[in-house]
Amino acid sequence: MRYSQTLIPTLKETPAEAEVVSHRLLLRAGFIRKLTAGIYTYLPMGLAAVRKVEQIVREEMNRAGAQELLMPMVQPADLWSETGRYEKYGPELLRFHDRHGRESCLGPTHEEVITDLARREIRSYRDLPINMYQIQTKFRDEIRPRFGLMRGREFIMKDAYSFDADDDAATKSYEIMYETYKKIFSRCGLEFRPVEADSGSIGGSFSHEFMVLADTGEDTLVICSSCDYAANSEKAAVAAPAVDESPMQDLEKVETPGKRKVNAVCEFMDIKASELVKTMVYKVDGGTVAVLVRGDREVQEVKLKNILGVADVEMADDKEVYDATGVPTGYLGPVGIKVKLLVDQEVAAMKNFVVGANEKNFHMRNVNIGRDFEAAEVADLRQISPEDPCPSCGATLTLKEGIEVGHVFKLGTGYSESMNAVFQDADGQDKHMVMGCYGIGVSRIVAAAIEQNHDENGMIFPMALAPVQVVLLNLGLKDAEITAAAESLYKDMQSQGVEVLFDDRDERPGFKFKDADLLGIPLRITVGKRLTKDGVIELRQRKDGTTEELSPEKIIERVLELIQTEMGHG
Ligand code: ATP
Ligand code: MG
Repeated sequence: MRYSQTLIPTLKETPAEAEVVSHRLLLRAGFIRKLTAGIYTYLPMGLAAVRKVEQIVREEMNRAGAQELLMPMVQPADLWSETGRYEKYGPELLRFHDRHGRESCLGPTHEEVITDLARREIRSYRDLPINMYQIQTKFRDEIRPRFGLMRGREFIMKDAYSFDADDDAATKSYEIMYETYKKIFSRCGLEFRPVEADSGSIGGSFSHEFMVLADTGEDTLVICSSCDYAANSEKAAVAAPAVDESPMQDLEKVETPGKRKVNAVCEFMDIKASELVKTMVYKVDGGTVAVLVRGDREVQEVKLKNILGVADVEMADDKEVYDATGVPTGYLGPVGIKVKLLVDQEVAAMKNFVVGANEKNFHMRNVNIGRDFEAAEVADLRQISPEDPCPSCGATLTLKEGIEVGHVFKLGTGYSESMNAVFQDADGQDKHMVMGCYGIGVSRIVAAAIEQNHDENGMIFPMALAPVQVVLLNLGLKDAEITAAAESLYKDMQSQGVEVLFDDRDERPGFKFKDADLLGIPLRITVGKRLTKDGVIELRQRKDGTTEELSPEKIIERVLELIQTEMGHG
């Protein structure tokens, strides 16, 4: 690939719209260009990096026995209605009509399409297990597309779906994918952690997210300092606290004029926030629920959604709170409230706490669950904090930022039941196929790799993901001997299978060095005056600046050796 003939529009200035380093560098290095919000064109260098990820994914998926296919991006709404997701999915699902007025959508994921295929084509237990995958452009009309390739509306995903005859076999398929994912992300040269994404209700964990650890992640992970427990903080289980056994004291109403906020009430009543209980009202499926958490805690909305089994919850605003309860926000409490009450397990273990009195300017002291009010449900509803003990071993926890690059999910029979995907088992009975689904954010991996590997001069690609392995600089364009040597090195490297970007542009050396650094290509070879003077060519490694001077005869051998060691034996 000749630089002079390749579209690599590098930029000197940092683009103002880019908030995170990967987005800035992808734009500056000419890897991507934005078409419109969350939608990008991959330029040759960007595409080459994406293809590297795809290749690793493909090799490891194939090795794991999965089969590649390619499903349509446009999907009929009818299929989505069978699972109820056409109504439930939310505005990320882009819905439209075709010219015949048929309702359709752009695939954000493919459970419906693959289950439809399975129910038509898979007849017998002999056809199982089967795991099918594709690498394809997905569309999700994200509310806040941002961070370049990290959260696009259009992005490239690998999605795989497994079908098994029973639950044990499905668990096995899940474990194979879990191990395959570890191989894929290791080969990509990423530092990652698999984290528990759902502390499954039946029989342990059924979902893991693979997180790349970085300074800018959209997810927060809790990681145990002692055992190997790691989880997304959205779903990290909080250990149930010991029950406070103090005797119940007499309920008391206290005037708290104008004190609506937790801090103000605590200061006024001279109590700690941990002695107060907040009543938070949420809108759910057209109705409302109230959630009780300790004054210094936050409701974890993902946990709330899961417990209620709904797709969305939204905090009610002041007017909605008033309409639902007849009480102004700030004075709400559980005693005599008219909406369904969900109580965080920590609150259920408390005694004699303070709450709003459901009356403007009043709170209550010495409130007790069971005596003064009843909970519709007690559950783990709050956000975990770094002060909480590890739910697995009790040791201390730390919080880290992470980027979700992959997700493995044991689905069970939800989709096969709603879509009636059955097979005939050995005993002649029709049974529902047991499913799993497994996603990898192919384009997001490129961004995550940059988040993890860069310096002030640009990207530093791991060998496995670099668009090319070597950038070859000709610094003597006007010198026939230098140019001839550079040209022949370029041809020889190509014929030996080395991926080279040949910088044959008529530019100053400093300019070429800057671009080579920005592009993050692992190896840089400079052919210049040292060749005609001393018979040597310079080889420099981008990651640590290590420089060697080698004769033209030795250089390719050394390049091959470095590529080999960096790539391991993938
Ligand atoms: P997120 O929580 O980040 O929105 P998700 O859990 O909705 O992602 P999955 O449905 O699990 O995503 O999709 C599989 C993978 O696709 C994710 O692990 C992620 O790497 C990638 N991915 C999801 N949404 C996007 C997006 N908007 N842009 C780029 N990659 C994405
Ligand atoms: Mg996910």
